[in-house]
Amino acid sequence: MYSGRDEDYYDRRGEAELRRQFRRRLRLKRFLAALILLLGAALICFLLFLLGKGVVSLFKGGGSGSEYVEEAPGVKLEVVDNIYTPEELLRLFGKRADAGTPDNGSESTDTGAITSDVPDDTGAASGTESGTDSGSDGTGEHRLGLIAIDAGHGGMDSGTYNGDVLEKNINLAIALALRDELKSRGYSVYMTREDDTYVGLQKRAEIVNAQDGVLAFVSVHQNAVDSDKNKIYGVEAWTYKRDGCGELAQMVVDHVCEVTGAKNRGAAFKTNLVVTSKTTMPAVLVECGFLSNDEECAKLNSEDYQKLIARGIADAIDEFTASYY
Ligand SMILES: [Zn+2]
Repeated sequence: MYSGRDEDYYDRRGEAELRRQFRRRLRLKRFLAALILLLGAALICFLLFLLGKGVVSLFKGGGSGSEYVEEAPGVKLEVVDNIYTPEELLRLFGKRADAGTPDNGSESTDTGAITSDVPDDTGAASGTESGTDSGSDGTGEHRLGLIAIDAGHGGMDSGTYNGDVLEKNINLAIALALRDELKSRGYSVYMTREDDTYVGLQKRAEIVNAQDGVLAFVSVHQNAVDSDKNKIYGVEAWTYKRDGCGELAQMVVDHVCEVTGAKNRGAAFKTNLVVTSKTTMPAVLVECGFLSNDEECAKLNSEDYQKLIARGIADAIDEFTASYY
């Protein structure tokens, strides 16, 4: 049907068509390769963005899932986050500023008058207080109930340290002393850990939130700085801006310093602490002292001093439960 000439013609035409097809395919391949590269780059950018957000939320805190680990050795602490100004103190604890005056706030209506000789509804409040002589505030009417204690760090997480003194062990010793002190005063106690085990920060908040009627939550920690180690010492209380937290933090730092004679470095609001921001009851994280300071470290490592700290915190719980509830 076809002449030789025609076939030759069609061969040449076919060859040109093949070349065109080949070029088209090449262009398509290049386009696809570029597209894949572009998508890959976009994906990497997106991942970096997520990572960045994660890092930012670490510092901002409050974001879900951020587990802020405080006072990693070598990291200088920012303590001046939100130290109470006198005006703030007045606004927050106006009624407490004149503790003892009968005209204080409406929040204490259920406990009636503040005089200490009226027995508590739940009874046995003052009866169980045997050895403590720190009743200068006259808080004989504190409400008894459940207090949650959190010994910071534990297990694989040692916290900060000075030589072979590990924060997790000091925290636990003070937490156990606090447990005993509170029980002797008639409180029930819930502990997030009672031995050297690791519990995640979110988990701590969750298990404490799951308990019914926790009056207050105290997380026990030790502080550290990276420079000027032996010049920096004292007690700090950190908390979150929620009902009752400011009062509790201020009372804890004040009472611990009163009992131990340690330097009062004040209370501060911190947004990036999981245990105070994710719990639902009045909560405080108390930094009982600086392990990085050799002198304070030696004190914190002694059983007597640990008991003093426990007494100070228990005094604060007494005052808090009497005034807040
Ligand atoms: Zn700690």
